[in-house]
Amino acid sequence: MSTEFFHSQEGLSRDEIASLQTERLRQTVERAKNSTFYSQRLEGIDSDALNSPEDIRLLPLTSKDDLREYYPLGFLTQPVQNMVRLHASSGTTGSPTAILYTEQDLANWADLVARCMYMVGVRPEDIFQNLSGYGLFTGGLGIHYGAERLGCLTIPAGAGNSKRQIKLLQDFRVSVVHIIPSYAMHLATVIRETGIDPADLPLRIALIGAEPHTEQIRQRIEAIYGVSAYNSYGLSEMNGPGVAFECPEQQGMHLWEDSYILEILDPETLEPVPDGEYGELVMTTLTREGMPLIRYRTKDLTRVVPGTCPCGRTHRRIERIAGRTDDMIILKGVNIYPMQVEKILMDIPEVGENYQIVLERSGYIDHMRVRVEIKDEYFVEDMRALKGLEQKIARSLREEILISPKVELVEHRSLPRNEGKAERVVDMRQAEN
Ligand code: AMP
Ligand code: ZN
Repeated sequence: MSTEFFHSQEGLSRDEIASLQTERLRQTVERAKNSTFYSQRLEGIDSDALNSPEDIRLLPLTSKDDLREYYPLGFLTQPVQNMVRLHASSGTTGSPTAILYTEQDLANWADLVARCMYMVGVRPEDIFQNLSGYGLFTGGLGIHYGAERLGCLTIPAGAGNSKRQIKLLQDFRVSVVHIIPSYAMHLATVIRETGIDPADLPLRIALIGAEPHTEQIRQRIEAIYGVSAYNSYGLSEMNGPGVAFECPEQQGMHLWEDSYILEILDPETLEPVPDGEYGELVMTTLTREGMPLIRYRTKDLTRVVPGTCPCGRTHRRIERIAGRTDDMIILKGVNIYPMQVEKILMDIPEVGENYQIVLERSGYIDHMRVRVEIKDEYFVEDMRALKGLEQKIARSLREEILISPKVELVEHRSLPRNEGKAERVVDMRQAEN
C-alpha cells in the first residue's frame, strides 16, 4: 500500500542497515562500558572486533534478573542528573525494573512511535485518544509523545472511566485510538449499553497492543468498531511501544532495525534458531544513550516472518507474539500457551469478550478449567443448548491443546477484568496443596 515513509531509514537497503547497525553497535558497546553493570560484563571486549551485526554473538546476554540486581542506577552511563524520565515495567511477573531516559532518548523514542503511527495512515489531521494507562507504564506517555510529534490533537484519556472515554470519543470525533485489546472488547459492551453502535463512531484506526492477543481478537475489534486495527509491540526495557509495529499489510510487525538489533534464540541452548523458526526475541538498543541494553532477553516468543514486505519497508518483520517463555502452562506434561486457548475461543461466535484459564489440582491430578463468557443472546438458550455449546468448546480446545479441559460457561461481564493488561491464567495448583 503506502510507500510514503515518515523516515527515509525505513527504506534502507539491507547492506545499509547492516553497516548502520555495526557502527551503532560499536558506539553502544563503548557507551555501555560507562555503566557499573557493563563495565564489568564487557570487560576485555573491544568494540573494534565487531565487524558485522552477527558479531553481536561475541557479547554476553542481559536478563531481567540483571536489571533487578543492578536496580536502580547500575545500568546508567551518565549521572542520574542527566536523565529526564523514568518508566517501569508493569511487573506482572516479578518485581519491577526501572528504565531511565535522557532528553535525546525521549526524542528518538517519540520519533519511532510517530513513524509507526504514520506507517498505518495516522496523519496530523487525526484526532487521537490514548486509552492506555499513564504513569509508569510506557503505553501512556510513550504513545502520547509520538502522537504529538506527528502533530495529532492528542487526548490523554488514560485507562478506565468508560463513560468519560465515550463522551470524549463522540465530542471530539476521535478518529484514532490506542487501546489495550482486552479493554477494547470491554469498552464495546459499555458503548452498546449507552445505546450506541461502536461502528457508528467516527473511528478509523485502532492501535492495539501491550498484551498478547490473537488474530481472532484483532478481527473482532475491527468488525465491532469498523476500524483497521494494527498490532503494536514494545517493552519498557527497549523504550516501550514503537519497537515493532504492523504496517498496512498486516502480515507481521516491522522491527526497526536502525534502532535495535534483533535475534531469535533457542531459549534452552541460547543459540540462534534457523531462519523463520520460533524462539525467544533478544534485542539490543542501538541509539539509547542513558541506559543502553545489550542482547536483552525479552522472554517473548516469536519468529522472523520470511520474505520481503510488499509495503517497501526493508526492516524485518516479527510474527505476533505467541507467548512468553514464562507464561507457558505445563499440564499433564503438555505445553500450552494461553494464546492457543484464545484462538479457539474467539473463533466460536457464541463466545463473548472475556475468558479465564484456571489451573486446579485435585489429589495429584492437575486440571484446566476454562471459564468462558457467553454473549447475552445465547445465554437465554435452554440447558441442552448450553450443554451442547460447552461440549463443542471443549472438543475444539482438545484438538488444539491435546488435553481435555473442563469448560464452564458464564454470563457476559461476569469474569474479573483488569484496567491494564489482562490476566488470563489463575493458577490454583499451589494454593490447594
Ligand atoms: P511492559 O514493559 O511492562 O510494557 O511489558 C512488555 C511486555 O508486554 C512484552 O515483553 C510482551 O510480553 C508484552 N507485549 C507488549 N506488546 C505486545 C503485543 N503487541 N503483543 C503481545 N505481547 C505484547
Ligand atoms: Zn510492511
